[in-house]
Amino acid sequence: MPPHTVEVEGVELSTDHWIGGERVASAERFAVRSPIDGTHLAEVSAGGAGEVDAAVAAARSAFPAWAGLGPEGRAPILRRFAEAIRDRADEIAPVETADVGSLLVGNRMAVVPRAAHNIAFFAERALELGEVIDSEQALNEVRYDPSGVAALITPWNAPFMLTTWKLGPALAAGSSVVLKPPEWAPLSCSLLADIAAGAGLPPGVLNLVQGIGEDAGAALARHPDVARISFTGSTDTARSVGRSAALNLCPVSFELGGKSPLLVFADADLDAAAQTVAAQYMNAGQVCLAGTRILVEAEIAEALRQKLAAAVAALRVGDPREPGTRMGPLIHPEHFARVSGFVERARAAGARAAWGGGRHEAGELYFEPTLLDGVERDSELFRKEVFGPVLSWHTFSDEDEAVELANDQEYGLAATLFSKSEERARRVADRVVAGTVWVNCYFIRELAAPFGGSRNSGIGREGGSWSFDFFCDLKNVAVRKGSFD
Ligand code: NAD
Repeated sequence: MPPHTVEVEGVELSTDHWIGGERVASAERFAVRSPIDGTHLAEVSAGGAGEVDAAVAAARSAFPAWAGLGPEGRAPILRRFAEAIRDRADEIAPVETADVGSLLVGNRMAVVPRAAHNIAFFAERALELGEVIDSEQALNEVRYDPSGVAALITPWNAPFMLTTWKLGPALAAGSSVVLKPPEWAPLSCSLLADIAAGAGLPPGVLNLVQGIGEDAGAALARHPDVARISFTGSTDTARSVGRSAALNLCPVSFELGGKSPLLVFADADLDAAAQTVAAQYMNAGQVCLAGTRILVEAEIAEALRQKLAAAVAALRVGDPREPGTRMGPLIHPEHFARVSGFVERARAAGARAAWGGGRHEAGELYFEPTLLDGVERDSELFRKEVFGPVLSWHTFSDEDEAVELANDQEYGLAATLFSKSEERARRVADRVVAGTVWVNCYFIRELAAPFGGSRNSGIGREGGSWSFDFFCDLKNVAVRKGSFD
């Protein structure tokens, strides 16, 4: 079959899989459209069990040599890879914007540099792994051995960033990789495979199988030769991936959904708090970490609301390629229907839209920034992740009530709080159930810190050496003291 390529925003890219250092086409293909205006972008190879088998076999045969290089041998290649990502920012950013609908300026200025950092950071961190624990009888040498083939399964809301967040530590750990990108936005991952190859990543170390989740994703999750599965996506899909992984006793890392609280206490800097609440509309609310449950101390609720209304009024919704735009479209008609359905059902149950609530005039897939009052605690909207620009507003009268409202949920991904009292902030941070708590800030993600979710928001933590705890097989070599004397 001849290779398939397509031009997106002036960038030529392959729409086929990348297996063992070669482009491989499937007879079956799926269409990818831009959420910006519905433009047909590409027909992409749709893989299944056969392509996954080939990719895992290629990864297995590339594994010994890649693992054998050691962190020192891998680091120069990964540094080149990171540099090549930076060099190609002007290609990656517009492709990601066309595919996902996320802001071009954000992709160019923040996402691509961060993606490069994801690769570079873990390459360096791998050089520091290991320790020696001195005990009475032995020196215990703790080693981080490469574990084999890692399956990486990523979602559509920020595919380039989230893929490199997994790929960096996996490659640095000596794993070879099979990547399954999201079917609603697969294109930047194809570019990533080319960039990796151009930077000198050996054939078979990174393999890409595109396809529908239930086909390619499920085949990868159940493959017996996969040593690790790192999955980011919805909690429901994670349950299915987890069932497959259990059959092979394959360790999983799950980064899942959330319904994160954003708490504003009466002593907070209200300007900063209002700006941060408005920032929850970022990426049209398609952000796992978004604080969508807004909890406000009653006495400042009105004042905060006025500031928030002003911030939201200034938020321009429209084409994400235009520099002044602050919010683009939702990813897909199916997702638009899902978000609309949440809002319609909430309103039917008595919630009121303070602003927004439906389709924005910018186009088919654009949803208005929405704030709902009167959302009941036992309602679906209070409890479920909408994954759109939809916030619910609740007041509390004291700290206990605030914490109770924050924790009354199945998730535990993140929490944000604003207060000028350090004592209170630390107390509340102790009490909320969340993998990350931001105090008087939002969205600071330090790569050296652990990242992940509690409860139904995930299993495990990645970041820093926690990523290596997951991707590596830890080995303790206990050498009896004096036994070589
Ligand atoms: P999703 O679960 O539908 O899909 C995620 C990936 O899994 C896709 O590549 C998909 O093709 C694949 N997949 C689907 N069914 C599969 C199956 N049966 N077996 C194996 N793979 C399968 O999620 P989505 O809609 O792409 O992404 C949105 C979700 O991701 C939200 O819940 C969001 O909160 C979550 N998310 C979490 C984080 C985090 O870091 N915690 C980050 C971003 C997104």
